[in-house]
Amino acid sequence: MNKHHKEERTLVVIKPDGVQRALVGEIMKRYERTGLKLIGIKMMKVTESFIERHYTFDPDWIRKAGEKSINNIKEKGLVPDIDDPDKAGKVILQTLKSYLTSGPLIAMVWQGAHAVEIVRKITGGTEPVSSPIGSIRGDYVVDSYEMSGSDGRSIRNLVHASSSPQEAEQEIEHWFRDGEIVDYTHHQEKILYDKDIQGIF
Ligand code: ADP
Repeated sequence: MNKHHKEERTLVVIKPDGVQRALVGEIMKRYERTGLKLIGIKMMKVTESFIERHYTFDPDWIRKAGEKSINNIKEKGLVPDIDDPDKAGKVILQTLKSYLTSGPLIAMVWQGAHAVEIVRKITGGTEPVSSPIGSIRGDYVVDSYEMSGSDGRSIRNLVHASSSPQEAEQEIEHWFRDGEIVDYTHHQEKILYDKDIQGIF
C-alpha cells in the first residue's frame, strides 16, 4: 500500500556556520511553524568520508553540481575558472568536506505532507545572493558563486535539505540509527490531515 502523504520525511542539516552564527532556533522555527513534525534531532561532528558518502549516493551529483555552478557563472556573463563539470564538481566536493567538518552541525528529520518540497522552498536556492527574500538562505547570509569561487571555498549557506523523497530516505539512513527516530502523534495532525474536522475544535 502506498504511504500517506503525511508520512513523507526529509533530512535537514544545520551546517557549522548556522550553529556558529547562533541561528539554530531561528532556522528550526521556520520549518516548525509550517506544521511539519520534528521526529529526530542530534548535534554531531562528522568526518570527510561521511560527507563524501552523503554527496555520492547520487553518482551524478558531482557532474550536476559542477554544471549548475558553471551555468550560473556563465549566466552572469562571467568566465568560469573550470569549464569541465566533472572537474568543477570534484573541487566543490573537496571544499564541502572541509566546510562541513569545520565544526558541529545539527541533523534533523522532519515529517509531513510534501516535507521535501516545503523544506526546500523555505530553505531557498544554493546561492544566498539569488535566494528569495523570506527564505533562510536569502534572509540570513551573504554569499555567491563568484565570491566562494574566487576565494576557493564552499558556498556558506547555513543548511542542507534533501532534494527528493528517495534521496531523503537514503540520507536519513546515513545520518540516523533506527532508535533515533521517534514515532509519535502531534496534536495538530488532526487539523492538518483529518478528512473530517467537525467536532475537533
Ligand atoms: P543544495 O545544497 O542547494 O542542494 P548542491 O547539492 O548542488 O546544492 O551542493 C551542495 C552544497 O555544496 C551547497 O549547498 C553549497 O554549500 C556547496 N556548493 C555547491 N555548488 C558550489 C559551488 N559552485 N561553489 C562552492 N560551493 C558550492
